Amino acid sequence: MGKFTNTCAGCLRPTDTGFGLVGEAEWLVAGLMQMMPEGQAIAMVERLAQDEYGCDPGCVPPIDMEVIVRACAGCAGETFELGLLANVEPGPPSYRQPDESRFRMGPAQTA
Ligand SMILES: [Zn+2]
Repeated sequence: MGKFTNTCAGCLRPTDTGFGLVGEAEWLVAGLMQMMPEGQAIAMVERLAQDEYGCDPGCVPPIDMEVIVRACAGCAGETFELGLLANVEPGPPSYRQPDESRFRMGPAQTA
């Protein structure tokens, strides 16, 4: 499971809340773009692919990635429900890419 930093991904202020995203790289970018510019969202997903999934720079895995996005209430707005990241069970609210909005053919692929 990927983690970015201890600061809100949108405004870079310290926060202890966040949410999860599970899906294709393109979908993760689209989700992150709800709270940050497109270039920053792409950079975050590419870094996730490299650090957590061992991809080459600029590449993303052909599987669903899972990431915990640290976010404050101001940046998450009404788009994402937030939870305390310190909670192990249950974890923060997690959003999974709907099958009907997949970018590639077919159901989720596993490694
Ligand atoms: Zn924020």
